[in-house]
Amino acid sequence: MQMFDMPIINADLCNGCGLCMTVCDCGALVITGSIISVHETDECGYCTDCEAVCPTGAIQCPFEIIVDDSFEQSAEQGFGQ
Ligand code: SF4
Ligand code: SF4
Repeated sequence: MQMFDMPIINADLCNGCGLCMTVCDCGALVITGSIISVHETDECGYCTDCEAVCPTGAIQCPFEIIVDDSFEQSAEQGFGQ
């Protein structure tokens, strides 16, 4: 079982250009041989920049940050007060 949702690398598409590492300093992305590998870390900020910058579509971020409007509304209303 994975403790954290981390980016997923498709090794068949990765050309080892290293662009993803230039936009990420969390330490999750490491060159292993000629492709990127992902190391689990709780430092990943889930920014999806690695996915966005990859020219070959080799990275997929399986997470999505969703702003919960109901939480915001509850905060404005004083959480039920
Ligand atoms: S940007 Fe994409 S192709 Fe380049 S090293 Fe990272 S995963 Fe591989
Ligand atoms: S989602 Fe952001 S912080 Fe996480 S590995 Fe990709 S670039 Fe780094």
